[in-house]
Amino acid sequence: MYPEIQLHIDGAWTKGSGSRSQPVLNPATGDAIGTVPYAEKADLDQALAAADKGFKAWRKVSAYDRYKTMRKAADLIRSRADDIAKIMVQEQGKPFMEAKGETLLAGDIIDWFAEEGRRAYGRIVPARAENVYQLVIKEPVGPVAAFTPWNFPVNQAVRKISAALAAGCSIIIKGPEETPGACAELIRAYVDAGVPAGVLNLVFGIPAEISEYLIPHRTIRKISFTGSTAVGKHLAMLAGKHMKRVTMELGGHAPAIVFEDADIDSAVKILAANKFRNAGQVCVAPTRFLVHEKVYGTFVDKFTAVTKAIKVGDGMEKETRMGPLANTRRVEAMEAFVADAVAKGAEIKTGGKRIGNKGNFFEPTVLTEVPLSARIMNEEPFGPLAPIARFSDFDGLVAEANRLDYGLAAYAYTRSTKTAAAIGAALESGMVSINHHGLALPEVPFGGIKDSGYGSEGGLEALENYMVTKFVSQLGS
Ligand code: NAD
Repeated sequence: MYPEIQLHIDGAWTKGSGSRSQPVLNPATGDAIGTVPYAEKADLDQALAAADKGFKAWRKVSAYDRYKTMRKAADLIRSRADDIAKIMVQEQGKPFMEAKGETLLAGDIIDWFAEEGRRAYGRIVPARAENVYQLVIKEPVGPVAAFTPWNFPVNQAVRKISAALAAGCSIIIKGPEETPGACAELIRAYVDAGVPAGVLNLVFGIPAEISEYLIPHRTIRKISFTGSTAVGKHLAMLAGKHMKRVTMELGGHAPAIVFEDADIDSAVKILAANKFRNAGQVCVAPTRFLVHEKVYGTFVDKFTAVTKAIKVGDGMEKETRMGPLANTRRVEAMEAFVADAVAKGAEIKTGGKRIGNKGNFFEPTVLTEVPLSARIMNEEPFGPLAPIARFSDFDGLVAEANRLDYGLAAYAYTRSTKTAAAIGAALESGMVSINHHGLALPEVPFGGIKDSGYGSEGGLEALENYMVTKFVSQLGS
């Protein structure tokens, strides 16, 4: 069953003070399965006051005690993983095993940040004068406003919450209105683990209304956003105007490069799995396939065969390997990308159409002969489309891979360590994974460069983003 969705403000679950709301739809059927209440200004004011109070209390809790509470939340998440995953499938559409994997990974992410918070050391800088102590101290930045999207309802929120809490910050999360249930269950695990009232607040509503109120507010000291580059630029501008620190995890258009000496079978298997995971609605999905001309035909044939075999269906059905798209906007976007590419000369190897007229199902799609002028070679597809293009020489390849303003993830397959080192160095990308898919573990950096944003959602760098540096110089007695 789908849960009743509420806001969480100052330690209490509430429907908020207003009457506005929106339905939650199951993307596999189009049926309304629940309702998400909107936070009104009075609710946001209450959340801001709570975050202020929560910060003052939480920053004084020792890193060791914060760690103990967070570890409890991680255990609760794991013990509830099946139930949370079922909620996520109903609202977001991904297959159950993907939803469960995302939920279990949340436990790992909480554990890692909880542990790392205990090692957020400062340093002592030797002084020039005798008896002077120069201390570099790390302090929590303050109350955070975070905005998380619908594609990974748990994963996008847990990274921001865990880094904030481990650093000693309080946080107001604006969760995803279209997929609110799993995100609310994540908050519930922290609350049930004993995170004090005010430290962690959850709101839903009209995104622009909430961001325009929270970001400039004096109480808020840091902004974290995951979503599209267009919205990210708008929010970064607002944050800049008010001198707020920012982490931006935005869109990407990842080149997936296959050199002529690559293990083709392995490249096909790994790239297809990651292309169609979450129906392609993943910021680091491989999206621009660049294959050496000598192995192009073989790669296209094998990749198309694997794509054709993907079983599309309701995420709760056992055989399903790809679910529906999360909302109707994505289906319309896929249709427009395909129509544009075909009009400009692309060939459809498989897929290209929506499936049926109930739910947001779209065929896993392979496109070849796609000209660079096609929209899909320039805009993030965020769906199950794989355009495959040829390259012939290394310099041309690098120019194409780095042509766009995006710089989030990139992939390369080669048996040569020399080529691997050369391509790893040449790509303008925040993350590069070579001969395997090795991104997004809690302990490694996760973030982009160029228009894909700045800051990190993983590793030590993520924790750093929630702390400020204070320098204290003290003359001893
Ligand atoms: P969108 O650009 O309208 O929204 C993207 C996200 O930003 C959503 O979560 C939305 O709630 C939020 N948002 C929008 N306006 C906002 C505002 N003024 N203040 C605060 N938050 C705001 O598009 P969409 O249709 O929801 O998603 C489609 C595009 O978004 C995709 O093409 C993809 O590029 C991007 N996206 C990226 C990620 C990611 O993981 N980086 C996740 C979801 C969506």
